Amino acid sequence: MKPVRVAKQDIYDSDEISAKIKEFLEADGVKLKGARALALFCDDAAGGGDTDAKGVRAEVVIAAAEAMAALGAEKIAVAGVAHPGCASRTSRFSAEQTARLRATAEIEDIRSMSRARANPDNPLTQMEFRLPKVLLESDFVMSLPKAKTSAMTTVCSSMDLTHQTMRDPDRLALHDFRLHQKLVDIHACRTPDYAVYDAIVAGEGQGPMNPSPRKLGLLVGGSNPANVDVAMANLMGYGIHDVAHLRLLADRGECASSAATMDVRPEGAIGRSARFRDAEWDIEGACPWISVTGGAEKYCPGGCVGFIRQAMDALVGASALNGTPAHIIAGRPVNYPDTVVDRERTLVVGDCAQALANIGVFIPGCPPDISAIEFEMMKIFGTKGANGLKTRMAVKAGMPLDSVVDALRRGVFDGSGPGGVSASEIAMSAVKRVLDQ
Ligand code: SF4
Repeated sequence: MKPVRVAKQDIYDSDEISAKIKEFLEADGVKLKGARALALFCDDAAGGGDTDAKGVRAEVVIAAAEAMAALGAEKIAVAGVAHPGCASRTSRFSAEQTARLRATAEIEDIRSMSRARANPDNPLTQMEFRLPKVLLESDFVMSLPKAKTSAMTTVCSSMDLTHQTMRDPDRLALHDFRLHQKLVDIHACRTPDYAVYDAIVAGEGQGPMNPSPRKLGLLVGGSNPANVDVAMANLMGYGIHDVAHLRLLADRGECASSAATMDVRPEGAIGRSARFRDAEWDIEGACPWISVTGGAEKYCPGGCVGFIRQAMDALVGASALNGTPAHIIAGRPVNYPDTVVDRERTLVVGDCAQALANIGVFIPGCPPDISAIEFEMMKIFGTKGANGLKTRMAVKAGMPLDSVVDALRRGVFDGSGPGGVSASEIAMSAVKRVLDQ
């Protein structure tokens, strides 16, 4: 197995990064003459100071396109993918960055692309997935993940990125107790030909939606994306046994089964650093006002519980959780809770907990619709919060349609004012749900 390439890179400079990606590709003998190439990048964007921790910056996308062009790729496309409810960063590329990118590549909108059926060999879960045609038909696919922790999958990976190319309903439907197995199946449908991580500024803590920046100053790449995923996890302090989908691939012999072999330039570029702060996914103890009844057998970080935590994180950050007791029930088996609050302030989430549906607001599904969870939580917690646009957004979610439409028209969510928040920080799917009412 070829070593994973690691290069020191302290700043976001497209020329420097492009030269290093080109060196990676050449060292791995990649030939692109006449190829139709696609660079798929993590497009998650956040407002405020955490932007760099969340998605891949324009400089890296430009660099990847230019490196592929330098090696003779004939047609190059770049496409960003963002988690549901998370605005795209591409829209924030400056005019200059966009013009430079367009000089070598087409910027594609993955969400509006036509799909085709893809079938993995030896599936662990299901026989068929629907993936973008451009992904299946490109001669060469370069995956550009962000190095960051994830409440759903421990760390984000190139496999996670391919999963995000699916349409929202399709990909969210995969978020159950077999999420890691499904990531392996999707990886088998169209394994990228190369992966390069933006680990210049990485993200730790409440990723993928709310990570904190952690400077690593590295580019990490290679021709076996799963092996690159293992190396990146290692550099963040995680072993193969910490990340279930990597362990599954290692069991199949498709990536390193322990630490990945790395070629580090310059030698000694990797300093000693403490393990990244984990993304907390549990909901018990996350907020003193919320009590939880959870199942011992089924209680999915990649499904109900992770979705609830994601919705809670956004509201906690905005001080919107207002001290009024609430109760959440999720998982299986669940007994009638010791503490019962008002029916309107009790959420029963997911099909596993259906037996208790009548004691609260029931959100069905396995997994349930994440926007429905966000919407109901906004209604419960967002109506009496402190100032701040996040809170106001939550308030508006429970207000008449005209108020929400008016706020959007006036650009209230542009993040420019004091305490402002950008649209990327709120669950746009929840807003849409309000608009659709
Ligand atoms: S309904 Fe049950 S199995 Fe499905 S995601 Fe929720 S806890 Fe997991």
